[in-house]
Amino acid sequence: MADSKILCANPEKSQALIDGNILTARVLALAGVRHMFGVVGIPVTSLATRAVALGIRFIAFHNEQSAGYAASAYGYLTSRPGVFLTVSGPGCVHGLAGLSNATVNSWPLVMISGSCDQRDFGKGDFQELDQIAAVQPFVKFAVKATEISHIPRIVLSVLGHAVEGRPGGCYLDLPTDVLHQTISEEDAALLLSGAENPRVRWIGDSVSPLDIEKAVCLLRMADRPLIVFGKGAAYARAENSLKSLIETTGIPFLPTPMGKGLMPDTHELAATAARSLAIGGCDVALVVGARLNWLLHFGEPPRWSNDVKFILVDVSKEEIELRKPYLGLVGDAGLVLDLINREIKDDPFCLGKAHPWVFAISKKAKDNVAKMEIQLAKDVVPFNFFTPMRIIRDAILAQGSPAPILVSEGANTMDGGRAVLVQNEPRTRLDAGTWGTMGVGLGYCIAAAVASPDRLVVAVEGDSGFGFSAMEVETLVRYGLRVVVIVFNNGGVYGGDRRNPDEICGPYKDDPAPTSFVSGAAYHTLIEAFGGKGYVVETPEELTSALSESFSSKKPAVINVIIDPYAGAESGRMQHKN
Ligand code: ADP
Ligand code: MG
Repeated sequence: MADSKILCANPEKSQALIDGNILTARVLALAGVRHMFGVVGIPVTSLATRAVALGIRFIAFHNEQSAGYAASAYGYLTSRPGVFLTVSGPGCVHGLAGLSNATVNSWPLVMISGSCDQRDFGKGDFQELDQIAAVQPFVKFAVKATEISHIPRIVLSVLGHAVEGRPGGCYLDLPTDVLHQTISEEDAALLLSGAENPRVRWIGDSVSPLDIEKAVCLLRMADRPLIVFGKGAAYARAENSLKSLIETTGIPFLPTPMGKGLMPDTHELAATAARSLAIGGCDVALVVGARLNWLLHFGEPPRWSNDVKFILVDVSKEEIELRKPYLGLVGDAGLVLDLINREIKDDPFCLGKAHPWVFAISKKAKDNVAKMEIQLAKDVVPFNFFTPMRIIRDAILAQGSPAPILVSEGANTMDGGRAVLVQNEPRTRLDAGTWGTMGVGLGYCIAAAVASPDRLVVAVEGDSGFGFSAMEVETLVRYGLRVVVIVFNNGGVYGGDRRNPDEICGPYKDDPAPTSFVSGAAYHTLIEAFGGKGYVVETPEELTSALSESFSSKKPAVINVIIDPYAGAESGRMQHKN
């Protein structure tokens, strides 16, 4: 039943008028929106303040780009649309970063932008832009309210579209005149009670029993089966179904970067440290909620074998049609895995540790882990990437459960972090994602902290990644969020100047290299400017002490870790593309 306080703030004064801002805030509150992210200004300031008055926490940012990234990650972490508010024109354009990032990552988000007065459109109005056209390439669904009475239905519809089928970014345009238009409390209450609440509708969760039998048969008959899972399975909260499939069958598994944690990285069937062998050697791969895109080498040789049979589980029919797997199962990851588990239950099978494939993967993984540990055990000063990463890994693991949420971006910092940092709980890793988006760091931190207040949030990012959104450290301090941002400061994008002498010529040869920033920048003082805690560290002892103090303080902090500018490599592991 609708909340009567939201439906009508002043039941006894039902002839009173309310405007579009108030009406929108009420619909959002009725739909269960608990947080909004954004930057206020003309014409949406009142929408934000009204939403706050109705119990929605509004997290006000400095830049729409970060707010949008925050809303996208919030959608992923909560499986509800992240709601994101911007002003018109340039606010909407800045917001496209978050909107597109949500769509590309298949995360649910609703961007709401104010827009100019409909009567003045085309005359050069304040912040005028055809915003519906601007968002079009980046959305599943975009809609404009052209009069106040449309608001309840349209707001609920846009929230529903964001989570329906394959999640993604959606857009709602609210012109200034609509936000200022008024209707009576009575009419508003009528419209609100008549609007349908958004319900998640899975597309095609009617997988045929025959296809489930086929999938099980393929897995049962395989010599070298592998289970791959990604952030779609994490979004679907399929961890329990995955665990039961993996543990009853004994099939090795490989998470994508953000799939990490759905099954513990430390699990004995984890093939993460034997990745090349696992994908190159498997003959049947069950891929759940992960696209066969660049992150998985398109599912093609030479990284995969020529005759591997893919069983793809995805909520998106288009995804299955695009990849043309041996067998496609369209549906929610958890539901499909449950059907597979049920089918196996009647005639269970388990590979066991001595199975040649399982043994080979486990041996390779152990060998690689041991090699890595030798690298990690050294205390190298000035810091390379490994030494501080090991110290951070151990400090994070010492936090136990609930495990901290890790936010990771940067080239070498993210690559190193993916290999070294350990994820043992689902949805505890947020990184640059499908697009390799840099600049997501602080937005993701803020989203994680508000979505999971019981967890510490730790960002491990390069100095260039941090720089995109560094001003949002003020946002951390303002809301008192429990976030520790660790900056791997190697003085630039990929660190020091790596040009060949023959590349340093021309009239601007004395300028810093395009990859260089001011070396030894005091990033920790940025948060101090707002009353937060900053640390600068250059040795293992200093880093250990800064981590221990900042992790236990429950207050935001920035740890500036000075790294050798020539450690790591240009473009991290993507050098062949640069
Ligand atoms: P990763 O980056 O981890 O490989 P991707 O973003 O490439 O993951 O793939 C995630 C896939 O998961 C997308 O194709 C998306 O359609 C799919 N997906 C989203 N929600 C669900 C769900 N509930 N069940 C199954 N698949 C889902
Ligand atoms: Mg750097």
